[in-house]
Amino acid sequence: MLIQNAVNAAGQPIDVLCRTGKIAALGAGLAPLLLPGEETLDAAGRTVLPAFIDLHCHWRTPGYEYKEDLETGSRAAAAGGYTFVNLMPNTNPVMSDAAAAHALMEKVETIGLCGANQTVSITENFDGHTLDHLKTLPESVKYITEDGHGVQNAAVMAKAFAICHEKHITIMSHAEDSDISPWDYRLAEDIETVRNLYLSEYYQTRLHLCHVSTRGAIEAVAAAKYRGAPVTCEVTPHHLWFTKDTLDYRVNPPVREADDVAALVEGIRAGIVDAIATDHAPHSEEDKLKGAAGMVGLETAFGVCYTKLCRQEGLPLAALSALMSTNPAEILGLLGKGTLAPGADADLVLVDLAHPWRVDKNALHSKSHNCPYDGTTLYGKVRATIKGGKITYRAE
Ligand SMILES: [Zn+2]
Repeated sequence: MLIQNAVNAAGQPIDVLCRTGKIAALGAGLAPLLLPGEETLDAAGRTVLPAFIDLHCHWRTPGYEYKEDLETGSRAAAAGGYTFVNLMPNTNPVMSDAAAAHALMEKVETIGLCGANQTVSITENFDGHTLDHLKTLPESVKYITEDGHGVQNAAVMAKAFAICHEKHITIMSHAEDSDISPWDYRLAEDIETVRNLYLSEYYQTRLHLCHVSTRGAIEAVAAAKYRGAPVTCEVTPHHLWFTKDTLDYRVNPPVREADDVAALVEGIRAGIVDAIATDHAPHSEEDKLKGAAGMVGLETAFGVCYTKLCRQEGLPLAALSALMSTNPAEILGLLGKGTLAPGADADLVLVDLAHPWRVDKNALHSKSHNCPYDGTTLYGKVRATIKGGKITYRAE
């Protein structure tokens, strides 16, 4: 397939020739290379970027398919410009073994719209103390997380870091001291962030901090990186967009103060923040009414981040593309993804940067519509998503 009449992140005209799932050639005016029978896609002047990769996503399978299933999750991802997601293990049963994780990834592969990595829990079934399953994890499991909770006991977490150092596993941490969060959600994140950063440095184990949301946490990450700790971190679109003065909505970590948002943006500019991850957390209306935390995010992530970071804060589009594609690919060790280069996977997204659009929660492909952006006007609409040289989504 030849994508014609596109521009790259710098606004220069570019065509992209895709063959056998890879990018075969890049450059202006590639039409002469087209072979008989090859399709063309007219980008009509829109911007082509490497498709997005989400480090933090909940597809609720198994156990909560009434919120999201692999099919609707795949469609939501494709509609948001994603071709790969990293799935959290807080399912029912909890993902604690490699066989279950692999079986799920195969199912996702069969659907064919979006690749996935399924993470495994740090403690067995999230019991907070058992680590035996980590010792027998095969080499194929590279990422573990207790997302939704922090591991409360410092000795348990220290042992997990020690095991993961030996096994070259990355710990993805949801930093929250749950004894503190009922009375101080900020301290709850900051104190566990500092503990986990310390353990990463002490054991030289790779740590990825999920959904960093406070100034204190981002400054702690900056200091740890300065000392050379093997850490990376992500922020979510909603922690960049909302503050507690603009949104009353249950999400964990909660939306913070304007000063925290400023610290996250400074962290992005300074290269302290490695990635933007959605924390796509679908819930039924009933579950939201009962207090379930989180919002869907796959289909609004690019629009929110482009509007906030590029249009309002002046961040170059190439820097946003690195946060949503290149760096997540690197963190997940996905070779050939997250980049526009000859020989790379033909995983691409076409975005319209010029026209405003309004978020309509009822038009989402996700099974759940817990979307507080409903009615918001954004720039940066995903027009088409291409995975392995095949179109997985096209806007009407
Ligand atoms: Zn979390």
